[in-house]
Amino acid sequence: MILNTPTYNNSFTPTFGYGIPKRNFFDIRDIPKLTCAKCGGQMLSSIEREELLNKTRAGAAFALRNTAIQSHNGSPVFKLLVEFAKKHPRTPLANFVSTNKKMINHLPEEQKAELDEIVEIANTITLKAPQVIKKLHKIKPHLSVADRETLDIMEVYAKKYPQNTFSEIFNKPEVIEYHYKIKTFQKEQYNIQAEMVFNQLAKYTKLLPDDMQNQFAQLNDKAQKIARIADSSDERKLMLLDNLYKDFLENIPDKKTAEKIKKKISEIPLRQNTADRNIAKKLRKKNDISIVSFFVNKITSTFEHIIPDSQNGTRGMYNGIFMCSQCNFDRGDLPYKIFAKYIPDFAGNIQKQMNKIMVFIQNKRLPGCYQTYPLKVRKTLDRVTDSQIKIDIDKYLKKRFKTVQMNLESSKKQKEKCQKDLKDVNIQISKLTQQLQALNRKQETLSKQSRAAAQKYWKTLQNYKLFANAMKKDK
Ligand SMILES: [Zn+2]
Repeated sequence: MILNTPTYNNSFTPTFGYGIPKRNFFDIRDIPKLTCAKCGGQMLSSIEREELLNKTRAGAAFALRNTAIQSHNGSPVFKLLVEFAKKHPRTPLANFVSTNKKMINHLPEEQKAELDEIVEIANTITLKAPQVIKKLHKIKPHLSVADRETLDIMEVYAKKYPQNTFSEIFNKPEVIEYHYKIKTFQKEQYNIQAEMVFNQLAKYTKLLPDDMQNQFAQLNDKAQKIARIADSSDERKLMLLDNLYKDFLENIPDKKTAEKIKKKISEIPLRQNTADRNIAKKLRKKNDISIVSFFVNKITSTFEHIIPDSQNGTRGMYNGIFMCSQCNFDRGDLPYKIFAKYIPDFAGNIQKQMNKIMVFIQNKRLPGCYQTYPLKVRKTLDRVTDSQIKIDIDKYLKKRFKTVQMNLESSKKQKEKCQKDLKDVNIQISKLTQQLQALNRKQETLSKQSRAAAQKYWKTLQNYKLFANAMKKDK
């Protein structure tokens, strides 16, 4: 079975135009221009995603003309917003709220509620279609074929209806009807092709030994379901199919039959997502900003569980690499062992991503807790792939080890200095203690002598007084 070329175009690496801000990040997903661990394509960081979405948001003036807000036309709150829009026509209405908090606090409760409602709707309204297409232009090369074709069609609509937003365009009856028809036709065509191949496979059942026939029918049922999922990539479906039939094919005693069946399996048509399906089924039901998000989200950096959720893999540092959302979705919970086998670039792309992350850790642009991240991930990858994927972190380790070694040395020196100081002080204390003891002894002797002297003095005084009195009487 031959793998189709991946559905994404990775050769083109445009910059998203935001530059790398010289600051620190809290999360690996925030690192700008990180590449996907699976497809190797450049991803949007969570910050870049927000920025891009904000750039497509409608300004106050255009948002207030949207039909979804017209029911408020004429209300005091609406008039307030119209005044704002006159001064700042291109600023999103959300900014009115953030810059006028004090004034809004004095509004009656019902007007506050109305304001919230209008701003919430305004947040979902984008610029006109031609402007949105311009903003999405930069991410287009990173999208799947179906999504790129969808944008091509949207570009045509933007020229045809330049005054509308995309949710308005996708709700025009002529647009819905056209794409719905094509989508239905594509599905019917797929069904006919699939039926032919699976009927043929069913006929081959007779060539198999009795005890294998039932299993074959079951596998074919499963295969039909796998091939039919339009949202998975061909790559993923081929992996699943290959894995599904592998052991069975090996167990067929007659090699010619096995070859025959194998060839037919390779003819199973894989249902694909199409631009028409996107428009008729997915985009039609979305508001403007969700239509933009549909594309933007696909290439946004996401945490990918190496050990999947379903196998109790947690969101811990040991278990995470980063994939664009469409690759993450495509991986599902396929084991990495299979993944590594079918995607030749996988190990290389993980390495490419890790190299960048390690630079960020070394330059202290990620919190200190990430220092052990490369080690932990290497260990997990090694374990789950039985050493098929070994990432190279030697340089990082050497550098880190040097730093840690230096830290150890300096802390050892510090420890030794402290110990020496303590010893000196202890010697001083013992000297002083001896002195103190001598002084104590001296004090004891002196106090004895002093008591004796005092006693002697007192007696002498009494004697003196006796004679002195006698002298007075004689006078
Ligand atoms: Zn990807």
